[in-house]
Amino acid sequence: MLSRRLNRTRAAIVWLTLVALLAMPLSLVAQTRIQYHNNKFSLQDDLKLGRQAAQEAEQQFPLLRDENARAYVERVGQRLVSAIPPEFQHREFQYYFKIINASDINAFALPGGPMFVNRGMIEAARNEGEMAGVMAHELSHVALRHGTAQATKAQKYSTLAGIAGIAGAVLGGPGLGQLAQAPFAVYLLKFSREYETEADLLGAQIMARAGYDPHDLANMFQTIERQSGGGGGFLSDHPSPKDRYARINQEAQLLRVTNPIGDSREFAGVQERLRSYPRAPSMAEIQRTGQRYPAERNGGGGSTNSPNGRVEYPSSRFQNYQILNGGVQVSVPNNWRQIDDSNSVWFVPEGAYGQYNGQAVFTHGVNFGVAQTNSRNLQQATNELISNLAQGNGNLRVNGSYQRTTFGGRNAIWTSLINTNEATGRPESVRLIATQLRNGQLLYMMAVAPQNERNFETAFQSVSNSVRIND
Ligand SMILES: [Zn+2]
Repeated sequence: MLSRRLNRTRAAIVWLTLVALLAMPLSLVAQTRIQYHNNKFSLQDDLKLGRQAAQEAEQQFPLLRDENARAYVERVGQRLVSAIPPEFQHREFQYYFKIINASDINAFALPGGPMFVNRGMIEAARNEGEMAGVMAHELSHVALRHGTAQATKAQKYSTLAGIAGIAGAVLGGPGLGQLAQAPFAVYLLKFSREYETEADLLGAQIMARAGYDPHDLANMFQTIERQSGGGGGFLSDHPSPKDRYARINQEAQLLRVTNPIGDSREFAGVQERLRSYPRAPSMAEIQRTGQRYPAERNGGGGSTNSPNGRVEYPSSRFQNYQILNGGVQVSVPNNWRQIDDSNSVWFVPEGAYGQYNGQAVFTHGVNFGVAQTNSRNLQQATNELISNLAQGNGNLRVNGSYQRTTFGGRNAIWTSLINTNEATGRPESVRLIATQLRNGQLLYMMAVAPQNERNFETAFQSVSNSVRIND
């Protein structure tokens, strides 16, 4: 009995050795191993950052209103997600896919999972594999956590608050092709050639595991080069490493495609429908015309009741400020200027401020301040603030109840007020948001615009969302 078992064990060892010997040459040519870079951020940080940036993206760029096409891209995306090798899966991440109605051949993915694919990219791809190739490349940046890895390397934005605070500036920047100029984008959307190679290789591996021919990833880069005139768009966000095409194809030789996906009729159908739509604007056009406010633009080109008669629409590019002695960081449209009032700070567009009876008057903009109050109860403290404000503005009154919200990541309340502007005599609406600082003082933001002018609301919301408190 014993000897037979020994024999069997010996046989097993011989067999295993043989397997090992046979496997060895194979392992020398196996797919390229990719490793994580040093990253001091948590997976939750990636998620949070991506979520914030995605929110900005959706405010800046028009999503394609075609649920059919979106659901299709989502299906392809999720197939790729489940093909991410286990060592790069993060169960916390939330991958989802949306289509931007823009003509540029581009796509971008944000930390933690949100991905935006341009309509132009889907129209340009020669088959589903090419579209999936770009998506697999983007997914790889996310799975490898390249955004926060790059931020880890950088001194300047080495805290989450530091990066997240400028999220507004990122996507508010020029078309994605030039996004690299926005400081935040450098870390989240524009990658070094080393990272590009990793995303190409992992992208090819994901493609093969999902049933796509990884050569299609290489082919897509050629399609992009051919159609975007050799540069710009995708290639400026994802600079080509040396011999990109050859390197991907070389990797593709080492990969076995499991359960290959045949020609996708669905892709052809979606592509045909997209091509039948009116021409999509380019990212640059969207930025230039401030896509978010088309209706208001046609409605008369600015406010007529400001001190200077004309007020520019909020830019979709944002700029970062440290205010209130560095205690608050905020991102505001870059065509607004900072004006320091006696003990508060305004951000206002040109034409929205002036002097009236020797006093500064504002018609559109946001106002930040810190108030000393007697109560530590948020609602009572806010009441106190409002009565103080009303002493200087006889017409100011509350127009609604308090609502709960968050501000700078804290519990806060907001309420709407109405006022009659001293300079214009017109009614204006004021939204007040307040939260408490650690020292018990009240931090508030007031967003002011003439009543019935709703075109500033999105900008106000973005400004309010961008607030970071360091107290
Ligand atoms: Zn890339």
